[in-house]
Amino acid sequence: MNDSNNEEENNLNLRVEAEHFTVYFRENDRKCIGKVIDVLEDNYSRITINLEQKLDSKLILEIYSNLKSLHLALGLQDAPDWIRGGLGAGKIIIASPLNPPPGSNFDNVLNTAIHEFVHILINKINSNTPRWLNEGIACYEAKDNSEKWIRETIIEGLSNGNIPTFKDLDTGEDFEKFFALNGYQYSYTMVEAIVNLFGYDKLRKLIKAPNKFDEVLNVSETALYNKYVDFIKANYRGITS
Ligand SMILES: [Zn+2]
Repeated sequence: MNDSNNEEENNLNLRVEAEHFTVYFRENDRKCIGKVIDVLEDNYSRITINLEQKLDSKLILEIYSNLKSLHLALGLQDAPDWIRGGLGAGKIIIASPLNPPPGSNFDNVLNTAIHEFVHILINKINSNTPRWLNEGIACYEAKDNSEKWIRETIIEGLSNGNIPTFKDLDTGEDFEKFFALNGYQYSYTMVEAIVNLFGYDKLRKLIKAPNKFDEVLNVSETALYNKYVDFIKANYRGITS
C-alpha cells in the first residue's frame, strides 16, 4: 500500500447511499463497502433502541485507506499508528478495513464504524459525557476490540490489585493518556458491569447525568466502584482463554 500523502489519496471521489448512512470512499476500497454498510445498518436498530436515540438525518462516513490521509482527515497530524477512526464535524471517519492500522484486523476496523456511530448518538444525548462512559459504551456496543486483549488486561489488573477508578479514566480530550491507562479495556468492562447490574434504562439515565451516581443508581461512586470490581472478579478472574 502506498503510504505517500498525495492529494489524490485525500479525495474520496465515490459515494454510496444507504438507509441511514452515506459512505464516501475511493476505488480501491469498493470491495469492502457492502460489508461496511451492512454492519452499520444491521446494528442500527439494536443500538438506537439501547440508547433511545436516533439520527436526525443520514450520517456521513468517510473511509481512508491511506493512514496519513486518515490522520489528516481527523485533524491529528501526529496521530499514533493504532488509531482506527474518529469523528469529524458531524461525520464518522475510519481507516479502510482492507488496510487495517498496525495491531488491528479487518473486523476491528469494520466495527470501528459502529464505535464511532455510537459516539455520535451519545454526544447527541450529552456532549459532556465523561470519556470513561462515552468510550466504554462505544466499545461495549461495537465490540471493536479483541476480547482476549480486554480479558488479559483485566486479569493482570486484578492480580496487581491495580484497577483504575472512573475518575482515573476521565481523561477529557486526552485519548493517548486514556489508551496508556488501558482505558479502552477497562471502560468496556465498567459499562458491561453497569448494563448487567443495573440495565440499559439506568445506563441511559447515567449518560444524561453522569456525575449523579446516587440519584441514578442509588449507590455512591465508591460503592459503584466496589460493585464493578466484584463484577470483574466474578466474571474475569481465573478464566483464561
Ligand atoms: Zn472512541
